[in-house]
Amino acid sequence: MLKDKVAIVTGASRGIGAEIAKTLAAKGATVVVHYRGSKEKADAVKKEIEDNGGTAVTYACDVADFKACEEMIKSVSKEYGHIDILVNNAGITKDGLLMAMKEEDFDAVIATNLKGCFNCIRFVSRIMMKQKAGKIINLSSVSGVAGNAGQANYSASKAGVIGLTKSAARELAARNINVNAVAPGFICTDMTDVLPENVKEDAVKQIPLGRFGKTENVADLVAFLASEQADYITGQVIHVDGGMVM
Ligand code: NAP
Repeated sequence: MLKDKVAIVTGASRGIGAEIAKTLAAKGATVVVHYRGSKEKADAVKKEIEDNGGTAVTYACDVADFKACEEMIKSVSKEYGHIDILVNNAGITKDGLLMAMKEEDFDAVIATNLKGCFNCIRFVSRIMMKQKAGKIINLSSVSGVAGNAGQANYSASKAGVIGLTKSAARELAARNINVNAVAPGFICTDMTDVLPENVKEDAVKQIPLGRFGKTENVADLVAFLASEQADYITGQVIHVDGGMVM
């Protein structure tokens, strides 16, 4: 389904990003397993892809760093001659109540989650425009749609990702580039593992399907949006949240 496609998945060393990388590779794409610091984990994702007959390379950089993102996109483009799929998945949380939130915690979350997404789109869009083809999928969150107490920084970053997605979709549509966002609810990863038990129990009560999601639930949707089956879908925010936000 994705044979001969080159995909960059940011934050693919673990969690949702690792699952997306493996799923795209299983469908035939050559995958750039991007990460920031977890080299061993990224290498393990690459190895798992290769053991299953797929093709992957790893690449490390901080998505908040504009120049570093330019370098990454340039180097992938130079190596393969085309970039067909960009999945902006890298993200962090630094939760806290608004009145006590540190300035650096607000800035760090916006820099990684929102600016990181912009940085990669900024440089890949030129390449995709020349190709007159491309799929960009951005990871937002139900927190960016509905807000969440204790996550003012994270919610703002993920709401920003939605605005960025819609603007990019409008701007790039004429060149046959699809830009969509996915908004997961609670998915079992390192990011949600750290939540206190009482928070997890309260969260489950808000989910009509009554359970946290799996990384596969998000990866399957991303793989669909990256495929030609989704050629007529752009500018959308698709929830994978067990019905949490309707
Ligand atoms: P995770 O397990 O914490 O993994 C985060 C990934 O992002 C890691 O690969 C990490 O790389 C990378 N990363 C973090 N900061 C980075 C930076 N500045 N530059 C480059 N890479 C960076 O997260 P996850 O739960 O899989 O979440 C993935 C995405 O889905 C995030 O955007 C998150 O906001 C979104 N999301 C998650 C949930 C959920 O319930 N889990 C719900 C809604 C939305 P290293 O390992 O090298 O640090």
